[in-house]
Amino acid sequence: MLFGVFLSEAQQIDIVDFKSLQTQLVILPDSAKVYGTVNYAFEILKNTDSIYIDAINMKFSEVFIDNKKVAFHNDLKKVWLKSSFKKNEVYNLTLKYVAYPKKALYFVKHNNDWQIWTQGQGKYTSHWLPSIDDMNDKMEFDLSIRYDKTYEVIANGKLTHKKINDSTVQWHYDMQKPMSSYLVALAIGKYNKKELTSTRGIPIELYYYPEDSSKVEPTYRYTKEMFDFLEKEIGVPYPWQSYKQVPVKDFLYSGMENTSLTIFSDDFMIDKMSFIDKNYVNVNAHELAHQWFGNLVTETDGKHHWLQEGFATYYALLAERAIFGDDYYYWQLYTYTQELLAQEKANQATALLDPKASSTTFYKKGAWALHMLKEKVGDRCFKKAVKNYLEKYAFKNVTTKDFITVVETVSGQDLTAFINQWLLSKVLPVDAMYVSLFKNALIKDYEAINCNIDDCKKSFQKPFPLELKKK
Ligand SMILES: [Zn+2]
Repeated sequence: MLFGVFLSEAQQIDIVDFKSLQTQLVILPDSAKVYGTVNYAFEILKNTDSIYIDAINMKFSEVFIDNKKVAFHNDLKKVWLKSSFKKNEVYNLTLKYVAYPKKALYFVKHNNDWQIWTQGQGKYTSHWLPSIDDMNDKMEFDLSIRYDKTYEVIANGKLTHKKINDSTVQWHYDMQKPMSSYLVALAIGKYNKKELTSTRGIPIELYYYPEDSSKVEPTYRYTKEMFDFLEKEIGVPYPWQSYKQVPVKDFLYSGMENTSLTIFSDDFMIDKMSFIDKNYVNVNAHELAHQWFGNLVTETDGKHHWLQEGFATYYALLAERAIFGDDYYYWQLYTYTQELLAQEKANQATALLDPKASSTTFYKKGAWALHMLKEKVGDRCFKKAVKNYLEKYAFKNVTTKDFITVVETVSGQDLTAFINQWLLSKVLPVDAMYVSLFKNALIKDYEAINCNIDDCKKSFQKPFPLELKKK
């Protein structure tokens, strides 16, 4: 019998609960290889004779369970382990492996030095670390990485110690809470860092290239204010031990909210003069908001993606509102409206709960849905519901129903009409959106400019530059 004939991917989470993963890694950029030893602790929920770990294109030299060699089968996507696993027992598994990652871990040259960084979401951490791709199996990940001592090595969690050898340093990072594997990350490069502390005492480390010290202030402007704002607004303390932000070359997105370690495109490292044209403020706030919405509570599957992107977009906007003012806030909602209407006109609109919805829908319609929900149930109820929702599902996975049920309980309102209008319908409730937008005088004035020539709206004073709007 081939291993795993009776076990499909969807079922494993009902059979095994992975609790923790500790790994020691050696990364060799010249040959694009990762050597590692990984220790897992897992509990068996139902008797079984095989389990698997996602491991793409890896080779395994040793596989031990509770210090005994076990049979395994490697199909280059998963490694299958054969043993008689008993319900309620906790097992310790050790794997030695080498990976040749073609995705998810990238080697880039910068100023003739290596930069190594990861992108787990949509790319799968199991390309470089044998792990569980299913985001519903959260576990505690502790990474320990050995690398050339002239480099900085950055990973999720708190740096507990560094062991210095002749030419290398072993960096030990500690996580204390579980997360989904797509949020595991590391970044290696030549960096300096600026350290801040949030008002409640969380260390915030802002990395930058040694030649970029003059860009640190404009790039990371408002970081502490936004951090403090989000903790207060969300009502739940920042869930992790520390927070780090690291710019990298050739990044695939604007930024990625790995747990306690945001990696972002170094295109956002800007000087004072560039701040007005392009800055990192929105991405900074967005990735930070994900530390709660996405990382603390994580969607069960793509149908509920707005619980991550809609919330991160909305809370970033609230953080910016606190800095730049109401006109800025409403102006952004107004521009989101125009984008959503253009999408509708092009026949590309979907419901928010469609797993194939566009980014515009997940992010911007998602943010709008929250803006309208808050108007409907009131500020106090909305805040209380979000807090209850995060506390109830902390370190777990969530569906839209989980969130809506909490809002209904807290507000005492029946949200059926809201669900139909905002979550299930493809059509934008554009009249209701404009009623809300017109609460802002600037938007009202802008829309009142009555002419058929596009150009005549261009002279309108939009709520920019942001600098002048700071309050
Ligand atoms: Zn996001």
